[in-house]
Amino acid sequence: MLDNLLAQLQALMKQSPHFDEEILRLLFNEEKTTINSATQNNLKIALTQFIKQKQLEFTQHIDALELISVDTVSTKDIPEITASSLQLVMNQLERFITLYAQVSAQLTNELNGVKEEQGTLILTHKDNLTHLYETIDIHYQLHSALNELAGALSTVETTEQLLGNVEEVIALLLKSMLSEKEHSKYFVKDIHREISELKVINQQSEDIGRAGQQQQQQWDKASQHNVGNLKALSKRMKVSDSDAKALGNEITLLQNALVDKTDIDSKLFTLQQKQIDKLNKKLAQTEQEASTYHSQLVEQRLINMQDSLTKLPNRKALEQKFESNFSAAKQSGQALWVAVADIDNFKSINDNYGHSAGDKTLQVIAGALSNSIRDSEFIARYGGEEFVLLIPELPQNAINTVLNRLRERIKSIPFKFKDKKVQITLSIGVTKVKAGDSDRQVSFDRADKALYQAKRQGRDRVIIY
Ligand code: GH3
Ligand code: MG
Ligand code: MG
Repeated sequence: MLDNLLAQLQALMKQSPHFDEEILRLLFNEEKTTINSATQNNLKIALTQFIKQKQLEFTQHIDALELISVDTVSTKDIPEITASSLQLVMNQLERFITLYAQVSAQLTNELNGVKEEQGTLILTHKDNLTHLYETIDIHYQLHSALNELAGALSTVETTEQLLGNVEEVIALLLKSMLSEKEHSKYFVKDIHREISELKVINQQSEDIGRAGQQQQQQWDKASQHNVGNLKALSKRMKVSDSDAKALGNEITLLQNALVDKTDIDSKLFTLQQKQIDKLNKKLAQTEQEASTYHSQLVEQRLINMQDSLTKLPNRKALEQKFESNFSAAKQSGQALWVAVADIDNFKSINDNYGHSAGDKTLQVIAGALSNSIRDSEFIARYGGEEFVLLIPELPQNAINTVLNRLRERIKSIPFKFKDKKVQITLSIGVTKVKAGDSDRQVSFDRADKALYQAKRQGRDRVIIY
């Protein structure tokens, strides 16, 4: 289309050194369709530079004719315009408009390039998301909805559509969360990454849009100035009536076209800005949803790992912690102690003072135990009135002291039920993870045996195996 236009333009230029209405109409009508998304900085800069150069040339031309302001020069002082001066003006116009057409063509090319690049980015994200969707572990009742969304991904063409799709998947996941407790945290992480990458793309188009508007304004200003120069120059020339009229017409057309263009550009920019704002809002909203979903997961995970009565890590948390400490200890060869602590004759507390007294006792003991351990140590409620401690890097002679101190501390808590002072004691069995222990259960069973031994030997003691 543009090549065709340029060819027509060149043909017309060859025919005549003057520009008739037809050329301007053709050029600017075409320009409106190609320059609309004028966002390419370098092209705009080139055009601005060109215009500046034109302005300089015009100024030099005026200087050469020794002309000053139109208002201060009387008609008789104006030198006769020569045919070559007129030709110079026309040549300048011609060059100006030819370059304008070239810039339009280049701009169109660049824009197509950007569109292609964005298309590739969207394709990549589509692939990533498709893969992600395949890994989602969702409630079985929502499977078909998820499949539908995964299928719809293939027809997605814009960032906005892509975001819409992600948003719907997040909504599904939230729904699913109500029925399923454990969700892939990895998925949440990945979706976060996808969203932030989409955000970058959006930011880029916004930046391009902004830079484009600036360049556009510069261009418009310079063009108007250029037209003004032409007008001033034409006023100062004495030419034949018909030439003056033709020149005047051309300048007016050029000026009108520029006004039209500025108007269209600004309308398009506002439209583009609105779309970007909309997309930005949607992005923020989607990100918010993903992060809500994420924090709910974290919360739920925490609840899943915490004992509700004592707020200590529960048995599940212990299993995870023990597993990682166990393999780390075996790899490094550093000491890891496993202690099982059981409240002595706890059943009698319930029997004599009621279940809620028993509950309260468990809470107080759990709090005291938890306050007595170091950061590197770990305690969990294993179940009932049993607690498990993981104590790393403590020499053999120190473990006895540490655990007996703990036992004494619990023993010294002044419990009082029904106005009766009650002393509560612990029995503790402890063992060190050995190189030969095939898994953590082997170590745990040994600690449990030690506990059994402590109970058998009369309770309120620590036994090391
Ligand atoms: P031993 O010294 O041999 O450990 O005697 P014990 O009474 O502590 O042991 P046993 O296993 O016979 O009884 C444990 C009791 O702990 C039984 C159960 O009612 C009580 N228990 C377990 N979990 C809870 C709880 O969450 N709240 C209350 N109040 N009691 C609990
Ligand atoms: Mg007990
Ligand atoms: Mg017990």
